[in-house]
Amino acid sequence: MENFLKHTSICNGKLKVLKRTMKGHVASNDLWHAVKAVKKAVTKISKGTKRSEGIWWSEQLGDKVEPIATHINWAVRNCEQNSQKLKESLDNIVEHYCNNHVNCHHSSRCKVDSNYEPSRIVITNGKVRKMLESAIKSSTIYKYPQDYILAKDIFYVESFNNVVNIFQDKRICFGDDQYKLRSNLAVCHWNI
Ligand SMILES: [Zn+2]
Repeated sequence: MENFLKHTSICNGKLKVLKRTMKGHVASNDLWHAVKAVKKAVTKISKGTKRSEGIWWSEQLGDKVEPIATHINWAVRNCEQNSQKLKESLDNIVEHYCNNHVNCHHSSRCKVDSNYEPSRIVITNGKVRKMLESAIKSSTIYKYPQDYILAKDIFYVESFNNVVNIFQDKRICFGDDQYKLRSNLAVCHWNI
């Protein structure tokens, strides 16, 4: 890939996109780890011994680990690369589970369906609300949303890879000139 970048001087605009998408690729790996960390933090406050229920964890959070993870992935892909928007979407997780849907996305079921009934346990306890709030706010994705907003670009990395495969058949060993030529063709062809 380095060789390819060095020798491809034409189609500069597309190269910029490629460099950006490569960054996006890294960010999306981080997103996976970031979501995993949030899942772990929410799991920690969603189960425990009967004795410590309501103190360190709450039954009201037991059904929210997976949907929160899904929401974070969705939020990153729908924030239009705006870190403030991503942060607000993460803030709204707690509101949504407290049955306050004022700031929920217009496409959410809670907004669209006039007969909406929460499918998860509604948080009714101030202390539980705080537990979830602090789990979300102490996550890296909440603290550094700008590092994750490019994640949706992974699509372009995949589509570019497909185009390169058309011009550079992996079963054929090309000479240097052919390799450069074919790389250039792939860049020009990609995304037209
Ligand atoms: Zn909602």
